[in-house]
Amino acid sequence: MQALERAYPNAGPQLKFGNPFQLLVAAILSAQTTDKRVNKVTVGLFAKYPAPRDLARAAPEELEEDIKSLGLFRSKSRNLVAAAGILVDRHGGEVPRSREELMALPGVGRKVANVVLSQAFGQDVIAVDTHVFRVTNRIGLVRAGTPEEAEEQLTAILPPGTRGRAHHLFIFHGRYCCLARSPRCGECPISGYCRYCDRHHGKN
Ligand code: SF4
Repeated sequence: MQALERAYPNAGPQLKFGNPFQLLVAAILSAQTTDKRVNKVTVGLFAKYPAPRDLARAAPEELEEDIKSLGLFRSKSRNLVAAAGILVDRHGGEVPRSREELMALPGVGRKVANVVLSQAFGQDVIAVDTHVFRVTNRIGLVRAGTPEEAEEQLTAILPPGTRGRAHHLFIFHGRYCCLARSPRCGECPISGYCRYCDRHHGKN
């Protein structure tokens, strides 16, 4: 973790948000698209729908227009309106702080829930996205067949208080070095600790 910290001192949230509601919306929108594209859309979206009650009243067709540059815009639009309605009806217009309540919202799976818990509320959980899953399996930190298994194993081995930071470091490493198709093992700052590197390049 120290080596990754040295390699990616600027690792941190890429989705832009100003409050838990905005992060929830951005995280729901981020499925199968890039954070950059989401950020382009949310600038206008947050101005147009500043609070859950505004989004809950949105016409789905109009919202589809607002987010159509993102993939899955029809289902995302439906989910956003329904989720905002639940925030208003059941949570007093606030984003709930428990995983169970977050995952009861349409469009919110375990990863999105953990992103919100960690980045909006500072809870010590690790969200496992595609980068975290791939990188930690390759390194050998986990032997996991599913993101849930990876989360469980990472939670067991990461020191308390480091899980949110680890999430960002693994994502940056996955984006810039441990790429999905061809990892750049020759320039990797943690090749000396990596099971994949040991097997494929015999460096360890
Ligand atoms: S050595 Fe290669 S496989 Fe291992 S973490 Fe680095 S880039 Fe990924």
